[in-house]
Amino acid sequence: MLHVKNITFSYNKTSVLKSLYFDAKPGENIAIIGESGSGKSTLLKVLYGEYDLNEGHVFWKDKEILGPKFNLVVGYDFMKYVAQEFDLMPFITVEENIGKFLSRFYPEEKQMRTDELIKVVELEAFAKTKVKTLSGGQKQRVALARALAKQPEIILLDEPFSHIDNFKKQSLRRSVFKYLKDKNITCLVATHDKEDVLGFADKMIVLDDNKIIKNDSPETLYKNPETPLIASFFGEFNAINNNLVYANQLKVVKTSNLKANVTQSYFKGNHYLIQANLDGNNIFFEHHSNLKKGKIVALKIEV
Ligand code: ADP
Ligand code: MG
Repeated sequence: MLHVKNITFSYNKTSVLKSLYFDAKPGENIAIIGESGSGKSTLLKVLYGEYDLNEGHVFWKDKEILGPKFNLVVGYDFMKYVAQEFDLMPFITVEENIGKFLSRFYPEEKQMRTDELIKVVELEAFAKTKVKTLSGGQKQRVALARALAKQPEIILLDEPFSHIDNFKKQSLRRSVFKYLKDKNITCLVATHDKEDVLGFADKMIVLDDNKIIKNDSPETLYKNPETPLIASFFGEFNAINNNLVYANQLKVVKTSNLKANVTQSYFKGNHYLIQANLDGNNIFFEHHSNLKKGKIVALKIEV
């Protein structure tokens, strides 16, 4: 169990994190979301013990995580952290990087463990490749596998799939998050991508203005986003009569009081995203077909 108790942290005079509280259970997947600069990376670093807190405490089970003032060597075996900027050994191979911290006294186990993790991050074809020749996304996958090598109890991931191309991203997410669940590894993922969250996270912590403004399941927050920040995380939305309405909740109907003037259509694959003007405000809705600029449509909110 991770206990974060009333932590406050600042790099200099202004607080980046103010009085944060939350818990994470074994095997739980917790997404930390917020705009760029909201403190996601700082939170992960602080939890890892990279900095000293101004106030508060962090515990993993009964052990307090301490900053550099009280703990000379940053990091613990039970906790691993994969930074946004990963540092690997460029001149050795993928499998050597992953196995680097595994014991040399059990070469067969070391090889099996390395092979297992190479599969999790889908790098089978690159096991013998030197890291310096890999792409950014491939390096990110090596860093992930290396953090998992000594099976931590908790892992902190900072935008873990940000460098990985869309062709690979979905299958890699499923593979990594399934692995973490199967092994009951607690996982905190800082991200601004809803695809990292939906279908994977048990809880979603929303950081805004140095504070946690929400800590709830993605489903609850999706259905009742409460703030534009949360709604915008999930997709295009509109504020109509003081309600936050997603683009897919606005439907074209024959008659209604909501009349909008189409200004733009964007092809989105299985639908078009239509931009329109409603009483002088820009709104978005989804539609099965393209609509011509200037067309007047009647809209209904379907919740
Ligand atoms: P996020 O990961 O959500 O984008 P960060 O945690 O990186 O946000 O940054 C939070 C705030 O702390 C930002 O205002 C950023 O400029 C500041 N910050 C981040 N790292 C440092 C640092 N090493 N020294 C001083 N300020 C920093
Ligand atoms: Mg960051």
